[in-house]
Amino acid sequence: MSKQYVYAFGGGKSEGNTKMKNLLGGKGANLAEMANLGIPVPAGFTISTEACTEYYDNDGGYPEGLDDEIKKGVTFSEKKMGAIFGDDNNPLLLSVRSGARVSMPGMMDTVLNLGLNSRTIEGLISKTGNKRFVYDAYRRFIQMYSDVVLEIKREQFEHMIDEMKKAKGVKLDTELTAEDLEKLTEKFKNHVQNTTNKPFPDDPWKQLNGAVSAVFRSWNNKRAIEYRRIHGIPSHWGTAVNVQAMVFGNMGDDCATGVAFTRDPATGVKRFFGEYLVNAQGEDVVAGIRTPQPINIAAKKDDSEKSLEEIMPKLYQELEAIYLKLEKHYRDMQDIEFTIQQGKLWMLQTRNGKRTARAAVKIAADMATEGMISKEEALLRVEPSQLDQLLHPTLDPKAPKEIVAKGLPASPGAAVGRIVFSADEATEWAEKGQRVILVRLETSPDDIHGMNVAQGILTARGGMTSHAAVVARGMGKCCIAGCGDISIDYKKKQFTTKSGAKFSEGDWITLDGSSGEVIAGKIPTVDPELAGEFGEIMEWADKFREIKIRTNADTPHDSEVAIKFGAEGIGLCRTEHMFFEPDRIEIVREMIVAENIEARKKALKKLLPIQKADFKGIFKIMNNLPVTVRLLDPPLHEFLPQKPEDIKALASKIGISEDKLLEKISSLHEFNPMLGHRGCRLGVTFPEIYAMQVQAIMEAVCELKRDEGIDSKPEIEIPLVGHVNELKYLRAVCQKVIDEVIASTGTPVEYKIGTMIEVVRAAITADEIAEYADFFSFGTNDLTQTTFGLSRDDAGKFLKEYTEKHIFPTDPFVAIDQGGVGKIMQMAIELGRGKKPNLEIGICGEHGGEPSSVEFCHKIGLDYVSCSPYRVPIARLAAAHAVVKEKGAKGSDTK
Ligand code: PEP
Ligand code: MG
Repeated sequence: MSKQYVYAFGGGKSEGNTKMKNLLGGKGANLAEMANLGIPVPAGFTISTEACTEYYDNDGGYPEGLDDEIKKGVTFSEKKMGAIFGDDNNPLLLSVRSGARVSMPGMMDTVLNLGLNSRTIEGLISKTGNKRFVYDAYRRFIQMYSDVVLEIKREQFEHMIDEMKKAKGVKLDTELTAEDLEKLTEKFKNHVQNTTNKPFPDDPWKQLNGAVSAVFRSWNNKRAIEYRRIHGIPSHWGTAVNVQAMVFGNMGDDCATGVAFTRDPATGVKRFFGEYLVNAQGEDVVAGIRTPQPINIAAKKDDSEKSLEEIMPKLYQELEAIYLKLEKHYRDMQDIEFTIQQGKLWMLQTRNGKRTARAAVKIAADMATEGMISKEEALLRVEPSQLDQLLHPTLDPKAPKEIVAKGLPASPGAAVGRIVFSADEATEWAEKGQRVILVRLETSPDDIHGMNVAQGILTARGGMTSHAAVVARGMGKCCIAGCGDISIDYKKKQFTTKSGAKFSEGDWITLDGSSGEVIAGKIPTVDPELAGEFGEIMEWADKFREIKIRTNADTPHDSEVAIKFGAEGIGLCRTEHMFFEPDRIEIVREMIVAENIEARKKALKKLLPIQKADFKGIFKIMNNLPVTVRLLDPPLHEFLPQKPEDIKALASKIGISEDKLLEKISSLHEFNPMLGHRGCRLGVTFPEIYAMQVQAIMEAVCELKRDEGIDSKPEIEIPLVGHVNELKYLRAVCQKVIDEVIASTGTPVEYKIGTMIEVVRAAITADEIAEYADFFSFGTNDLTQTTFGLSRDDAGKFLKEYTEKHIFPTDPFVAIDQGGVGKIMQMAIELGRGKKPNLEIGICGEHGGEPSSVEFCHKIGLDYVSCSPYRVPIARLAAAHAVVKEKGAKGSDTK
């Protein structure tokens, strides 16, 4: 049997179903499923994604047999809809739409009203008795088909419409009469003839073939490629094509069209939420040209708005029953599209709705509480990386603010940036390191690159379901839509508010996507809280996860933030950061340039009380949780001054000549400092530095225990060990100081001495190293660097190209390279625990907060991951995902 490319649906049954997303695309699979559920769907058929890939393999030719299958599909639709494609008296009209595996809103092409020609319009006029409607459909069809299939610019037709309006002395398209539109269609057709030297195709089958091929081609248009790049969608998937009987929402006042969400996509609140327009086509709702009306009474702002619930109460009830059925069936929030044609409701689409992180968290938690999904599924419904959106600071509610305009709160969050008025300018400014807010009348898929780099988006038109709103929510970006309070002048690069205040390109503004407020200037922000459903999801995550989550923190403030986010200890306190504070850098410099050990010890003595106070601050906050303190790691020259005036000042401060100081600085120069005199090599050559640090740590711990009863758990960590003897030597240095401090304070405390594993040799000899280590912590930043032989400071210059060319699947400094670095980690764990079964092992490289790496760390049996404070909740959720996925809980099909 030959391959099947076409799958029919409609009239209560389908050849496909929702599980066939890869073959039928998301839209096609869901149309099939809705028909199977007995939901009214205009009959049609889906041409598979496989046909699209073969179309490309055939250099733009249909695969064998597709033509015949399309014909059968059309016959099926004709029977179900009681009309005939291309028939002079009773014509069936078709829509031709793209539909990939995952939704790519507005990125590919669509042709509507297909099948109209000089003969079928007559049949349709007598069938509907509405000449104006038919000619309006016909002119829309010629316009769309010419744009999508014949590649004649849309504006050229818009221009002809404007000319006609001018000649007739009217302002709106709707004021043009049937005769005006008839004349326009003739003009349009002449324009096509003149531009292409061919007549506009009259044969409906030719029209259909042209449209199907154009939709296949649109998979590779510029904006679809850009969207795929941003969202990591593979280019070999291809798009399906959905050919479906047309239904019209613009045949009169008993018609309407709308889009709705079964729950609020911005906040997640459980309320049926949507927008519609009477006597309109679907594109009118999303294009933002007419301001849509709320679907139900509950969402009305005032009495000037008319809801569908009031105007068409029976149909509203029918729609309500359908949305409840769909949500129950898919067990997830749905984004639906519908059309009402002369009093009959048709469903055009359902899909799992895009949502903000805030909504994702609330919907998942609510659905689990309602018993619709399990807690495990609820956890899987929230992508750990999405939480990043909730962990950014929000506007300080106490800060004074000058609200200059208000729009719809389309996508929450706060955005502070400088105004730009086009997507290209947004990218130009962003490339120069500027934070920008993209201000547009409305956005279109062509603006995607600008939206991607902007901090936030502000549009003057459009509703909660406009392009800007939907795309911004998908990107997790703050967006205010439909802000009628501003009028934009693109030419002057300026917008004016109702009160007459003017804002120009480059001016700073702040957007509050949760309230819809546009605020003048820059507003300060505050740290977020893990409250409500967010807190609940985190609690569930903690119940499931097995790996502990620590944080990388070296100040009391960071430690406090991390504790608030649920950190269970500090996995890395980088002591060198403390040395950069203004009150100590001078002493550190004095220590570095010291001529002999006495001079160095003198400087170290001054540093001791300062370090001790730092450690006390952190240990106090961490209370009895473990705190890993790493001894000095970076090459010393990093601390020395570079500018001539600073060199001069330091020389006079420590009483040596400038020349002598310059000599010292150049003697510390290294060709490859990352592989030079750093890490434990500093400890070996200047043991007194490590001794001072250990003394500061232990005095802080012992005194806190003695004086305040705080039971700190210090873990002293030696960096960059490659040979067991380095650790053996330095362990003895530390041990001696520890014994002295315990003896002098008379306070015995628990402590550990361990090492980082960040050099390949350390991993390979982990059994030998384990003999002298109470713990290991993988420094995967350096371990990646040393495994690949790839400088972490220089790789940024070319790694982007490596990932773009698929040479590396991902940047190995972002996600653990499981096949290489990961294998080395596994080897070190096996060797280390082979020697010491209870050896504590964690990770503190940047990978410790990256979801796929956290899952990997769980799998290979680490005790903890450690990450920056703001990534702690992400790591908590990723660690729970690891367990739930391992146990095989049923996941979400949002992706
Ligand atoms: C590491 O190398 O992974 C690490 C945590 O240390 P640093 O980034 O400070 O070199
Ligand atoms: Mg390191």
